Amino acid sequence: MAELKTRYDGLVIGGGIAGMQAALDLAEQGFEVLLIEKEPSIGGIMVGLNKVFPTLDCSSCICTPRMAEAWHHPRIKLETYAEVSKITPQESGFAVDVVRRPRYLVAENCTGCSRCEFACPVEVPHEFDWGLGARRAIYIPHANAIPQVAVLDVEHCTFCGKCATVCPTGCIDYLQEPREARLEVGAVIVASGLKITPMEAKSQYGGGSLVNVISPLQMERIQSSNGPYGQVLRPSDGKIPKSIGYVQCAGSRDASIGYPYCSRVCCMYAIKQALLLTHYIHGVEVTLYYMDIRAFGKGYEQFYRRAMDEGVRMTKGKVAKITEDDHHNPIVRVELIDEGGRVADVKHDLVVLSQGLIPGWSPNGALPAKTSGDGFFEIPELKVRPTKSTVDGIFIAGVAAGPKDIPDAIVEAGSAAMEAANYLMRTGGAAKAVKQSQTASLGGQSRAREMGGEEAAQEKKAIRILREKRGGMTEEFKAYYQRQVKVRRELVASLRVGPKNVSELAQAVSLPGHEVMWHLNAMKKYGEVAVVGQAGDYLTYGLKET
Ligand SMILES: Cc1cc2nc3c(=O)[nH]c(=O)nc-3n(C[C@H](O)[C@H](O)[C@H](O)COP(=O)(O)OP(=O)(O)OC[C@H]3O[C@@H](n4cnc5c(N)ncnc54)[C@H](O)[C@@H]3O)c2cc1C
Ligand code: SF4
Ligand code: SF4
Repeated sequence: MAELKTRYDGLVIGGGIAGMQAALDLAEQGFEVLLIEKEPSIGGIMVGLNKVFPTLDCSSCICTPRMAEAWHHPRIKLETYAEVSKITPQESGFAVDVVRRPRYLVAENCTGCSRCEFACPVEVPHEFDWGLGARRAIYIPHANAIPQVAVLDVEHCTFCGKCATVCPTGCIDYLQEPREARLEVGAVIVASGLKITPMEAKSQYGGGSLVNVISPLQMERIQSSNGPYGQVLRPSDGKIPKSIGYVQCAGSRDASIGYPYCSRVCCMYAIKQALLLTHYIHGVEVTLYYMDIRAFGKGYEQFYRRAMDEGVRMTKGKVAKITEDDHHNPIVRVELIDEGGRVADVKHDLVVLSQGLIPGWSPNGALPAKTSGDGFFEIPELKVRPTKSTVDGIFIAGVAAGPKDIPDAIVEAGSAAMEAANYLMRTGGAAKAVKQSQTASLGGQSRAREMGGEEAAQEKKAIRILREKRGGMTEEFKAYYQRQVKVRRELVASLRVGPKNVSELAQAVSLPGHEVMWHLNAMKKYGEVAVVGQAGDYLTYGLKET
């Protein structure tokens, strides 16, 4: 990536929809903006969603043009896989310390061709699919990632050197180091977004221990056309689920677990997912267990009614606990409010916990703006200046300030950009900005490898140095990798005998169904197996012709 300048007008932390919008709005007003994203791609939560309520637009289709705009804007410098370690107020503006993590390749030379990914022998759960899908140790973050540049996960690398051997541009650089830079900015916009409440927050619901009790973000990926399964299946055995339950407020409005507030979007995303399930699976029954429904936004009440009209069941009830039977079918114990408090045990194929939203980043002293008791950034003048933090010159946008949906995050981003622009004009922070010729001093720079006849020898040497530096593979990873190779061999041998469904394969290779499911989906992604048929509610997989 190009060097950083020593000064920008505005710094935006977080490249989700709010951060991208704030950066674009500030840049459109003529300011030079540095947009920092900690992940290898921008897009935040939105780029991984399936469709959005209430319009049911494809989420990545409306998010990626915004990502491309931010990437190509002449006044936005995008820095991915980087984090702000410290922001210090100065007489004018702020001093900012930035750390860029190594991708172990020269990003400018990576064409995103994925050859390295296909050559790499290691598979690990993919963060983008919330663990349901797989990626390799070197990988392009996802199909819609911006930038389309690979990243090498050194924790899961066998140091085999295959990626460097196949890379057509020779851009793998095993010797890269983290790079640090200090620069100055006139104003800061924090748009660090959200995480969801932990699956285990309500342990009585079995999140994290029952295989067919999943998170709403996992359901977004399962429903996505480029998701891990390609269609709606449940994780334990690949069954097409015909009965699905949603448990509302499974991590919000509950002081006993530390999340007393309403997360505002869970009712709507659950209604959206439930409605879509009725479109995707013929004859499915979807039940939402709720105490209140909060359909607060424009067109949301109508969307809620549409979902009921199209068959989504709304059951007013308090869910006490979730257990499972011998076939991993979740059983929801619920007190049915409209039936005088009758307690029922309802069996489903799959249950989604409507988890709440929590802050995406706890700055822990990295920046001077204060957070409130709930962890979101404090907004002292909420009613009149809803994006101003506790520090002059630092503004907050999107879920960083509190739970909200996409339209509200976008509106808030525009407001934060306007506040930042006014602040820059008022304080003269912009006047000093941008000395094109100056670049920030970066410690531990990436060492460009000399290409040419000695390339292969250099690569071997580089990977040896990397291996020595990392102390080789950890014992834990070595065991994981050996198991992966063994399981893969057994699965291929079993499929060579003939096509099978997940349960048949699980029996043949003596593994739990959800593990087989994960391996099969990895093999499907990397072109080794294909779905060859369907019998009842189960798909059949076969080896792909080579
Ligand atoms: C399951 C689910 C479904 C949803 N469906 C919808 C829907 O259909 N319609 C709708 O309107 N809303 C929906 N939402 C809400 C929507 O996801 C949020 O409103 C939106 O993503 C908020 O955008 P954001 O930019 O504030 O945060 P995010 O999308 O979380 O983006 C924040 C970005 O900041 C980055 N970041 C965090 N900390 C740092 C740091 N220290 N340094 C650098 N970068 C950092 C993160 O990596 C991330 O890329 C849904 C939410 C969930 C959980
Ligand atoms: S060196 Fe590491 S990243 Fe590259 S192919 Fe081998 S295991 Fe994969
Ligand atoms: S093979 Fe090289 S150019 Fe292609 S994606 Fe991998 S690192 Fe980038």
